[in-house]
Amino acid sequence: MQLIDGKKVAEEIKKEIALEVDKIVASGKRPPHLAAVLVGHDGGSETYVAYKIKDCEAVGFRSSLIRYEDDVTEEELLSKITELNNDNELDGFIVQLPLPKHISEQKVIEAIDPKKDVDGFHPVNVGRTVIGLPAYVSATPYGIMELIRRYNIEISGRNCVVVGRSQIVGRPVSILLSQKGVDATVTVAHSRTKNLEKICAEADILVAALGSPEFVKGHMVKEGAVVIDVGTTRIPSKETKSGWKLKGDVMFSEVAEKCSFITPVPGGVGPMTRVSLLKNTLLAAKKEIY
Ligand code: NAP
Repeated sequence: MQLIDGKKVAEEIKKEIALEVDKIVASGKRPPHLAAVLVGHDGGSETYVAYKIKDCEAVGFRSSLIRYEDDVTEEELLSKITELNNDNELDGFIVQLPLPKHISEQKVIEAIDPKKDVDGFHPVNVGRTVIGLPAYVSATPYGIMELIRRYNIEISGRNCVVVGRSQIVGRPVSILLSQKGVDATVTVAHSRTKNLEKICAEADILVAALGSPEFVKGHMVKEGAVVIDVGTTRIPSKETKSGWKLKGDVMFSEVAEKCSFITPVPGGVGPMTRVSLLKNTLLAAKKEIY
């Protein structure tokens, strides 16, 4: 079994991005610039946005944080988005989700100019991804594909099973894996899937993205399969200072000994998700998608 080291690959990609930033700056242009809009004080969102800002600093990007209190109106937020869409000093921006209930997330996502939508959530970017046009692909699916590519894992003609069909992970991963040129045969499983254990056990590549800790057990995995564990559920822990630790969707102790490759949690898909936002921002700065 080989461990797929997402942390190491993400560090490599960060170095590659930093070199590109050096070239951009050496050519007399400003560095790539990412903005994050954060509404309220949700602990998880605060942490994610802080990571995003830190990641920007690490590769030499400019970053801006725009904060609003929980009671910001939808109108105010949409007006800020229009301003950011028109800001030539900004290459891309994200609005950290979730938003308070009185604001429509879909309206907010659709208000973002697809050219600046480095989260890749706008229907234009999703649609372009589906038909195989250049697009900002959302961070987690992008990171998963890059991990598979960098470990030279054969995909073409292989039987892939994706457990989970969310808009941000399962669905886009299934689309990317089945694209022409990637050529996997893909099954998308979800909470209504019958015979899930049997379906998983037939996968050459199994992507677990359901958010149920240690759901995938040893008997559900074929000998020699590639296992990508996307799940990150916080469970209480006495071993850590924070009082919690992350658990994946795969029972690592049982599955690792059967498979050819496996991503750990933490240190697998998570770091790749973070670096993929940087990669999209670089693409935006270089105007490589649009
Ligand atoms: P989500 O929106 O809750 O979607 C979960 C999907 O799993 C749904 O399609 C659901 O089916 C399916 N599902 C749930 N229970 C199932 C079961 N028992 N059997 C089969 N399918 C089942 O979750 P998400 O946003 O995709 O996230 C999934 C996990 O990945 C979470 O742990 C999340 O924290 C993690 N995550 C990690 C990263 C990272 O960077 N590492 C990024 C994003 C998400 P239905 O559609 O039928 O409800």
